[in-house]
Amino acid sequence: MTQKERLIIGEGKISGYLSIFLAILCLGATISAYFPEYLTTADFRELYKPNYIKFTFLIVLTLSFGFALASFILSKKTKLGFFAILLIGTSILLASGLPAYQEIDSKSFTIGLDWLLLDILISAVIFIPIELFLPKKPEQTKFHEEWKTDLVYFIISHLLIQITGVLVQLPAALAFSNIGLATFQESIQGIWFIPQLFLALFVSDLFQWSGHYIFHKIPYLWRFHAVHHSTKDIDWLAGSRTHFVDMIAVRAISFLPLYVFGFSASVFTTYIIIVSIQAVLAHANTRINFGFFRYVFVTPQYHHWHHSDDPKAYDKNFAIHFPFIDMMFGTYYPIGKAWPESTGLGDVKFPKGFVRQFIFPFVKNPVDNNTIDDPSNR
Ligand SMILES: [Zn+2]
Ligand SMILES: [Zn+2]
Repeated sequence: MTQKERLIIGEGKISGYLSIFLAILCLGATISAYFPEYLTTADFRELYKPNYIKFTFLIVLTLSFGFALASFILSKKTKLGFFAILLIGTSILLASGLPAYQEIDSKSFTIGLDWLLLDILISAVIFIPIELFLPKKPEQTKFHEEWKTDLVYFIISHLLIQITGVLVQLPAALAFSNIGLATFQESIQGIWFIPQLFLALFVSDLFQWSGHYIFHKIPYLWRFHAVHHSTKDIDWLAGSRTHFVDMIAVRAISFLPLYVFGFSASVFTTYIIIVSIQAVLAHANTRINFGFFRYVFVTPQYHHWHHSDDPKAYDKNFAIHFPFIDMMFGTYYPIGKAWPESTGLGDVKFPKGFVRQFIFPFVKNPVDNNTIDDPSNR
């Protein structure tokens, strides 16, 4: 999308897209309510109180309707409001036919449609305004060339949350379930909340650093990780672009110390929330630099340098929580006030689209497609 095609305030398109986005969420929520045993995440179900769900559904539906009206009022030309009204009507019709509350029998395989809808709503509410009002690259639009590919990654990784959860935890369970950790874990759980949380973030980032480093340094593994680095327009959604092999392996490695230490439930939940937010924030297209805290915690600026296509920053800033881990291992790139000029794989030609990017690493080395990038730099 060129500069001219950017969304302009007052044309009814922004409200139209917002309306369609919210209407799709409502439709998705209605569909998951029809098949909760297959389309909702077993661990989340007890959090869903029927009254809260109904209330949230009505709020989102009303907002969607309001944006559709705004779109109609602002422009007679755009049909976006019309599509949104169709979606809203379908959601209401379907929702009115929903059976009264019933017991859900748990199936062994579920699709995380609920998790997808919730996380995309929360992430969009937090990150779209940040990127809109405080962008690092104002010229980069939401609808850059590859946003649809990134959205596919986001959707698939969320729908498959159950299976990825099992795969990520499997190596730790296989390796450590029988080694008698109870006394050690009790002493860990006895630590105060804040130091215990810091310890959880530190040990998992230490292991994440190692996994991430290996994926950069071993040429066969780099093929998979190159998918994540192939994005030229980094934003909150682009952070989802990770090959399945890379995602499972690095998450499983990061999970090993968490399993062994057996942190308390409250620390573990807080850890999951921090990881989820920081991973998305690190990729966001925002100039917020967090002042002094950028030397303590990984920020967008820190991680954007990891994605830089400037050879001087190759294989630097692997940490995802604490920059001092990179300092410990000599892989710290001093961020100062500067930002990378551009990100991506330089002149390496990389396939576009989810399916091509999924197959590519199994059959080809991206450096074979390289024109000027020296493979020894990786
Ligand atoms: Zn990397
Ligand atoms: Zn990244």
